[in-house]
Amino acid sequence: MKERLYLFDTTLRDGAQTNGVDFTLADKLAIAHMLDGLGLDYVEGGYPGANLTDSELFAEDRKLKAATFTAFGMTRRPGRSASNDPGLVALLDAKADAICFVAKSWDYHVRVALETTLEENLASIRDSVAAAKAKGFEVLLDCEHFFDGFKANPDYALACARAAYEAGARWVVLCDTNGGALPHEVEAIVGAVVKHVPGDHVGIHAHNDTEQAVANSLAAVRAGARQIQGTLNGLGERCGNANLVSIIPTLKLKPDFAQKFDIGVSDEKLHVLLQASRKLDEMLNRAPNRHAPYVGESAFATKAGIHASAILKDPATYEHVKPEAVGNKRRVLVSEQAGKSNVIAELDRSGLIAELQGLGIAIEKDDPRVARLLEEVKAREAKGYAYENAQASFELLARRVLGAVPDYFDVTQFDVNVEQRISAKGERVTVTMAVVKVTVDDARLISAAEGNGPVNALDLALRKDLGKYQKYIEGLDLTDYRVRILDGGTEAVTRVLIESRDETGERWTTVGVSANIIDASFQALMDSIVYKLVKSGAPT
Ligand SMILES: [Zn+2]
Repeated sequence: MKERLYLFDTTLRDGAQTNGVDFTLADKLAIAHMLDGLGLDYVEGGYPGANLTDSELFAEDRKLKAATFTAFGMTRRPGRSASNDPGLVALLDAKADAICFVAKSWDYHVRVALETTLEENLASIRDSVAAAKAKGFEVLLDCEHFFDGFKANPDYALACARAAYEAGARWVVLCDTNGGALPHEVEAIVGAVVKHVPGDHVGIHAHNDTEQAVANSLAAVRAGARQIQGTLNGLGERCGNANLVSIIPTLKLKPDFAQKFDIGVSDEKLHVLLQASRKLDEMLNRAPNRHAPYVGESAFATKAGIHASAILKDPATYEHVKPEAVGNKRRVLVSEQAGKSNVIAELDRSGLIAELQGLGIAIEKDDPRVARLLEEVKAREAKGYAYENAQASFELLARRVLGAVPDYFDVTQFDVNVEQRISAKGERVTVTMAVVKVTVDDARLISAAEGNGPVNALDLALRKDLGKYQKYIEGLDLTDYRVRILDGGTEAVTRVLIESRDETGERWTTVGVSANIIDASFQALMDSIVYKLVKSGAPT
């Protein structure tokens, strides 16, 4: 019989404290549904009342499938009753399944920061937990500075944890708020706590200030805690929170944990962990960490040499887990003199053939077009293309190499003009206009459009009139546009990613790369339109 271990994601709350991270409501909803789909038990959405986005997030039922949608907030203020604290009253109006309160558990903080008595802080914990329970919420209590507090005054830190548990909190979460605790300390202190609060009601919330947040989380589990809090990619203020993208595969793939515990993330969902990690990076416009454990591009890369030849004989020789388990790929960097058989072997190992078969493109691995595709992908990646998050462009590229994309239309010329001038009212205005010339069959179509910027104008003009194809792209909508400047060695190049959506709700992402941002955007726009035509089965 395995024990259940619960995972609590706080990417949208604690992770949102990261420098430079600013989630929109749409971002938060997309991430919440992604986490829900991944199998996380709790998704903490934010702190209603703290800002407009979070208040809006909890103003409606967000209908997660399985995860417990959680709102974060403070316990009642000292000297007030629960019903007389506007902050708490507003929090209890949140459309959420659970409330996670944060409370002080270090006597020094209670006296100095909260300026109240130790007993009043305990009463605040009891009252707040009871008030949320009475309204039907599942309740969690984050004990802030628990480990530092325990070192200073173990009796008081424990009294806070017990007050929450005895008042009916489902989880008492021990927080290493400053992130300075070490694994052996965490193991000893959690071991002491579970003598007073049952371990299946104890959680760990670790920060990464000594690079031990993952180790501390695992140490807490060894000592009896049964909930781990963390974030995707270890997002979080300062050095981040415990990284769930490292914790999840460790729990699933390392026998010491896998044999003892079940988590909500299935083996199938583990395969898409890499995708989830990359998706978050893309939303934040951050370059993925190549060296990230399990999901980094280099996590299973071996340079040619003795390691590579051993890996070809048996991958287990230099790999601690199978890369496919987390959706990653083995990479053996083949030298330029490598024979075709090596290239095809690598292609097979990289999973590209399976990927093509998944796209419904029947192909044998010794098909010469496969090698051509691999070369094309490599050549393009060297120029700055990235296909991991631009599946639609990858699919088009594969189909083109296989001769399976019709020439629907031809853009023979485009022109984008940006003009700044003084208007009749004496204001400085910038006007952008694009003209696009397209040939469809034998018809030559010319469209012009004004936009709020060059890419917008180009997009509007391009999609204004595609003749007989117009009806297929009517429902096409651009939902996201991201630009990254890559250091291309001698000169910088621009990579543009465009996310599109159609009337069926399907979303896809396309990529363009060029030294010129308009050109890169044009490529991504064209891929998006052509992808939509292929998908809709438009006739040639
Ligand atoms: Zn935190």
